[in-house]
Amino acid sequence: MIERTFVAIKPDGVQRSLVGEVLGRFEKAGLKIVAMKMQWIDKDFALKHYTEDIEKRRGKKVRDLLMDYIVEGPVIAMVLEGIHAIEIVRKIVGGTEPKNALPGTIRGDFCHASYDYADKKELAIRNIIHASGNKEDAEYEIKLWFNDNELHSYKNVHDVHIF
Ligand code: GDP
Ligand code: MG
Repeated sequence: MIERTFVAIKPDGVQRSLVGEVLGRFEKAGLKIVAMKMQWIDKDFALKHYTEDIEKRRGKKVRDLLMDYIVEGPVIAMVLEGIHAIEIVRKIVGGTEPKNALPGTIRGDFCHASYDYADKKELAIRNIIHASGNKEDAEYEIKLWFNDNELHSYKNVHDVHIF
């Protein structure tokens, strides 16, 4: 039941100085940071991260727009560990469309754009953060972004009070 999930604070989150705010929310929920780095990816890497799955689900246009968005500045990539971490992190992150993301979630609190607006402006919807959508994606994304020796197992207070 203890899972690991991949999270990236997207270029808008980094440029808006929301890194500390976002990390604080995960830490306070008792999730353990087991890997973290800043990386400025290129389009080849972005295509590996946003696989053909995104084209199937959202269409080619959205995948193309994402290629511009995700490479426009460095991201903070991390792996978080916790009980049902994949689902819990998605809950803390909130829905994909900021307009509909609930208050109290990262996307609901720190952005407000809509699909309509982003599509008209021909931009990927800028929603601050990426988090793996399911177990298979989490495994794939952790492997893509991190080497085994960058993933750390260690004890922290969560082992006493949360786990
Ligand atoms: P997520 O898992 O909640 O990030 O959502 P998806 O995996 O479905 O989509 C990946 C990213 O593509 C989203 O976080 C948005 O940045 C962007 N996106 C998704 N759907 C749309 C859309 O309909 N229009 C635009 N402009 N961007 C979208
Ligand atoms: Mg997704």
